[in-house]
Amino acid sequence: MTVKNNNIKFYKGEQIPIELHKVRIVQKLFLKPIEERKEAIDKAGYNTFLLNTKDIFLDMLTDSGTNAMSDNQISSMLQADDAYAGSQSFYRMEEALREVFGKHYVLPVHQGRAAENIVSQAFIKKGDVIPMNYHFTTTKAHMELNGGKVLEIFGDDALQIKSDKPFKGNIDINKLKDIYKKYGKEKVAFVRMEASTNLIGGQPFSMQNMRDVKKICVENGTMMVLDASLIGENAYFIKQREQEFKDTTIKDILLEMCSYADLVYFSSRKVSSTRGGGIVTNSEELYLKMRDLLVLYEGFLTYGGMSVREIEAMAVGIQETCDETIISQSPSFIAYAVTQLDKAGIPVITPPGALGCHLDAKGILSHVPQQEYPAGALAAALFLVSGIRGMERGTVSSVRDEEGNDILSDVELLRLAFPRRVFTLSQTMYVIDRVKWLYDNRELVGGLEWTEEPPLLRFFMGRLKPKTNWPEKLIAKFKKDFGDSL
Ligand SMILES: *Cc1c(COP(=O)(O)O)cnc(C)c1O
Repeated sequence: MTVKNNNIKFYKGEQIPIELHKVRIVQKLFLKPIEERKEAIDKAGYNTFLLNTKDIFLDMLTDSGTNAMSDNQISSMLQADDAYAGSQSFYRMEEALREVFGKHYVLPVHQGRAAENIVSQAFIKKGDVIPMNYHFTTTKAHMELNGGKVLEIFGDDALQIKSDKPFKGNIDINKLKDIYKKYGKEKVAFVRMEASTNLIGGQPFSMQNMRDVKKICVENGTMMVLDASLIGENAYFIKQREQEFKDTTIKDILLEMCSYADLVYFSSRKVSSTRGGGIVTNSEELYLKMRDLLVLYEGFLTYGGMSVREIEAMAVGIQETCDETIISQSPSFIAYAVTQLDKAGIPVITPPGALGCHLDAKGILSHVPQQEYPAGALAAALFLVSGIRGMERGTVSSVRDEEGNDILSDVELLRLAFPRRVFTLSQTMYVIDRVKWLYDNRELVGGLEWTEEPPLLRFFMGRLKPKTNWPEKLIAKFKKDFGDSL
């Protein structure tokens, strides 16, 4: 027996997450003065995606491709078998996926959105609808490109910032039934469930919800698709929050989750701390519909755009997803940060989810109208006062309607990602401290406006500027409070 997860009890103290690993390779970080951070964010057009890591202290943009690899993953890369076709590395990965996801056919792709491209092209016709718990940016873009319409059918509590509902990622079963009544089953391309629903704060769905959704899919002869990019954390939350599973192993929870899906796709940048991604299924018919697209877009069937080294690391990473001490690491640090911020009265998504700590920019910057992008402004302001890079998940990440008006996002979030095993507890405490300072000085932060706005996925490459000289005011207050400290 060994300890199962990071939630170790402390004598008298409050709950502190503990690292169940030791650090054996490190990368030096630089904390630059606030004036240099100002230059950097000006140059980046107030879009944190366009910052250069040399100017960043703690990079909390995403967990995509930034989780720390294990010693076993890195050593596995040395045995990679270089071959265009039939590489041993692929067969090792295929074996790992069959074992962990319980699916026989394996299609490797270069990253998650490549899987979305293939699944969307293979299974969506013009005029189809795709019901789901919530969209993901690249998912929606691919589905719409193929003429599909995304229908989000989350429960009433899903978008509530403060909540004690354990499964805000659930699909609302009545809304799903209504879709079949309204559109007819022929129009439903498939039902998509996203594990640890990314854009609403890394919120999980329950196993019971999967069972209920599956039942309706079966009744209507619809395929169920699982986006498993964050499946490990969702499985961990099922174990923590769903009574029936408190003694079930993560491995068995993962297998049951996948058993309800006809097709599972994922980004390995998240699920296995590497690069790449994949699509798996037990249906030969589904496999054959995707196989030729894979060769056309990704590469041959035994590498799919990945290097053999990545494939080896992915095989090990997929196995490690079954290890609760590994998949609980990020959620336990997130829970710590969320609890501290919540206690300080700062609007933050609760209950704590996967992926990151999500600050409610609408609540924090209530004086900044949504048309002036409060989440984008908060992301820029936090970088300015701390060197921490988060990601805007609000109206900047949305699109415009046909008349050219912004479609205002349901929620305005600043996401501070906690990639697995990357940051220490003292760094986490620095994050909490600077967010608290920014909250106390929130009145100084103003809005943003576009200077360059690309039509597709504008949040990646677009540039903005402050509507007033609020960054200068924020810097002056920062220097007054912190003096020469950076
Ligand atoms: C990141 C992510 C994707 C896309 O994966 P990439 O590897 O970044 O292309 C798809 N779905 C979800 C839920 C994700 O979190």
